[in-house]
Amino acid sequence: MEIEEVAEDGSAKPRSLPFDYAMMLPAFRAVEAVSGIKGLSNPRGFTIVDRYQRNPAFPNIFAIGVCVAIPPMGPTPVPVGVPKTGFMIESMVSATAHNIGALLRGREPDEVATLNAVCLADFGDRGIAFVAQPQIPPRSVNWSAQGRWVHFAKIAFEKYFLRKVKLGTSETFYERRAMQLLGIDKLKAARKG
Ligand SMILES: Cc1cc2nc3c(=O)[nH]c(=O)nc-3n(C[C@H](O)[C@H](O)[C@H](O)COP(=O)(O)OP(=O)(O)OC[C@H]3O[C@@H](n4cnc5c(N)ncnc54)[C@H](O)[C@@H]3O)c2cc1C
Repeated sequence: MEIEEVAEDGSAKPRSLPFDYAMMLPAFRAVEAVSGIKGLSNPRGFTIVDRYQRNPAFPNIFAIGVCVAIPPMGPTPVPVGVPKTGFMIESMVSATAHNIGALLRGREPDEVATLNAVCLADFGDRGIAFVAQPQIPPRSVNWSAQGRWVHFAKIAFEKYFLRKVKLGTSETFYERRAMQLLGIDKLKAARKG
């Protein structure tokens, strides 16, 4: 495989890469429907939002999830974003639901997502669990553990999560309580200052 290796200073060095089995990931970009709209999306089509998940140019548009434009942590020679995970997205969803609710009640949006990451990454028979608060450094919590238990925890979580979806429950009271005890929140206490 003939590739270009890009150094931190942006210089590219051609290289030949021998391989038996290769996987190439195309550059990540957003769907066409929301791309190329001035003020709505960045050059790769990701939707621009303020701290309340609201687009500054189109205030009736909120965005959540992997489609949101989050700039890289520092200058990079290639246009990359930051990875997003499930709990981080749930925190965006919570903030957005509260903020749209506030607008409907004649108030201004005031809830901010914590963007915390709580993840069970399953590798098939083992896995890694991690908590990163917030996901984008600098962090106040950085914890990870690995083992076979993560694989089983992921199976249990999947069953629990799908049951919630079937019942239409976004968060059970015991889940909320457990997360509270662990100090993992979805919303920043923005309103309180
Ligand atoms: C391989 C892999 C492993 C991951 N593992 C983990 C993990 O262990 N833990 C974790 O927390 N996160 C994990 N993530 C990240 C997490 O899955 C994503 O961040 C999350 O699913 C994004 O949710 P979303 O709702 O924003 O987008 P998506 O889940 O991508 O949903 C977008 C939906 O929009 C639909 N869609 C697309 N275009 C259109 C269109 N034009 N019109 C209508 N519908 C459209 C798509 O079909 C899709 O259903 C993983 C991601 C990948 C790829």
